[in-house]
Amino acid sequence: SLTAGIVGLPNVGKSTLFNAITKAGAEMANYPFATIDPNVGMVEVPDKRLDRIQELIPAKKVVPTTFEFTDIAGIVKGASKGEGLGNKFLENIRQVDAIVHVVRAFDDDNITTVTGKVDPIDDIETINLELGIADLDAVNKRLGKVQRAAKGSDKEAKAELAVLNKIKPVLEAGGSVRSIAFDEDEQKIVKGLFLLTSKPVLYVANIAEEDMADPEHSKYFPAIKEYAEKEGAQAIGVAAAPEEEIAQLDDDEKKEFLEAEGVEEPGLNRLIRASYKLLGLQTFFTAGGKETRAWTFKKGTKAPQAAGIIHSDFERGFIRAEIMAFEDLDKYETPAAVKDAGKLRLEGKDYVMQDGDIVEFRFNV
Ligand code: GDP
Repeated sequence: SLTAGIVGLPNVGKSTLFNAITKAGAEMANYPFATIDPNVGMVEVPDKRLDRIQELIPAKKVVPTTFEFTDIAGIVKGASKGEGLGNKFLENIRQVDAIVHVVRAFDDDNITTVTGKVDPIDDIETINLELGIADLDAVNKRLGKVQRAAKGSDKEAKAELAVLNKIKPVLEAGGSVRSIAFDEDEQKIVKGLFLLTSKPVLYVANIAEEDMADPEHSKYFPAIKEYAEKEGAQAIGVAAAPEEEIAQLDDDEKKEFLEAEGVEEPGLNRLIRASYKLLGLQTFFTAGGKETRAWTFKKGTKAPQAAGIIHSDFERGFIRAEIMAFEDLDKYETPAAVKDAGKLRLEGKDYVMQDGDIVEFRFNV
């Protein structure tokens, strides 16, 4: 399954945020690997559509969908020099599908930073520099091989050489591969290079509690957002410490806390949804009967493979899928009314699943 890795300099609030995330998914503790690897946590995806479906098509139980976060600790500075733990840090980042990059964006003299100051852009650049140097090493090694092959008539080598030559100067200037525009063919080549700075990233500003109600007004946030936008990335503000507290409260207490802070929903929910999107994940639903449930699929997944997420037999014996869009159920309020409006669709094996599809799969056993 896909995983988002939490990265950042020491003492910026990574563990606090990771704890908040895993506490929010506390019932998930009996997932076997959550106990095997303390650095991996399952998180439930907050989705108001589930409540609405349950209201319209009541089921015995409602099950939200989940995905994975990985806490990537370790040495950052000098990592690209390949020293022991630093090497492991890069290796861990190589394993994740997207990066959640946490930076310190609150003032508190009692909590030290490794640099002795609060400077989120400098923090971002420190990490991105290490990742960029590691990528430049990889690109140079690859160039050595490909240059030779490209001298002949090897078309693939020529294409890869062109891509490598496009990437190299950007990395040399301290930039990230994700900031480069590639066409579709180039994208395939880039994907095969497994470069660290080509992974999608979400910058998370760990803001002060007093900015919780309006994260964008944190004095540090605008610069972080601007940096992210230049890279074609996103930035959000979350106050890690209070979020960890909120995550441990029961529903009533949570509501009280949020009202007192003047916040509509936990910032953690925004973080979870943004990370889910960053990974290219979407949700379909199965509704009614024993349980109404949300399921995670990778954008672009076709109907039989989506059926296979529920059970491999469903994929093998797939006949068709009966689908209504969540928006149509929301509007017409009963499955029968959706059908009467001509909005219930029968889809075959080439159908590309859409976010919000409510599905009943038909299959042979
Ligand atoms: P990590 O090294 O990046 O994992 O950082 P930690 O999560 O261990 O946090 C470092 C210190 O900062 C701890 O003492 C936290 O309690 C504190 N901290 C983390 N987030 C916040 C926050 O949002 N506000 C305040 N005031 N302190 C925080």
